[in-house]
Amino acid sequence: MWSQRIPEPIRGLSTATSLAIFRVEQASGNNYVFVGSTRRAVDSYRAFTLRPGPLYPLPVVCECPGCPLDDSVVHARDLLEHVLERLPVRARAELWRLVLPLDVEFRWRTLPDPHQRRHFRNMIDLDAELDPWWYDVLPCFERCAT
Ligand SMILES: [Zn+2]
Repeated sequence: MWSQRIPEPIRGLSTATSLAIFRVEQASGNNYVFVGSTRRAVDSYRAFTLRPGPLYPLPVVCECPGCPLDDSVVHARDLLEHVLERLPVRARAELWRLVLPLDVEFRWRTLPDPHQRRHFRNMIDLDAELDPWWYDVLPCFERCAT
């Protein structure tokens, strides 16, 4: 059921998958998972990996629903994981194919944090037990913030 509230389909995804994502967003009940948030997360993740040089993700600064999607690629990746886990199989596979090359780029271009300090935390799934691999990277501190 498409309506005017549905945002533009995500580039590279079928209409069916965009609709499945919309349904997950709409049913979410999570402050951080709102209609259009997945598209913003994909755009944010893509833009981050297109930057030149080594990549240093920023931890979340502003905790309102929207800002972290622009500020923290780690939050964007958390959101994509949250949505991926809730999509039906076919839609999940399609979104996953979009995310995978960005994951590869992220892993390749970030540095591991040698001290394994906890800089990132999951604001979407507060009871997540394990920190995902994208938390194990050296973050950007004020010095390299642009
Ligand atoms: Zn904010």
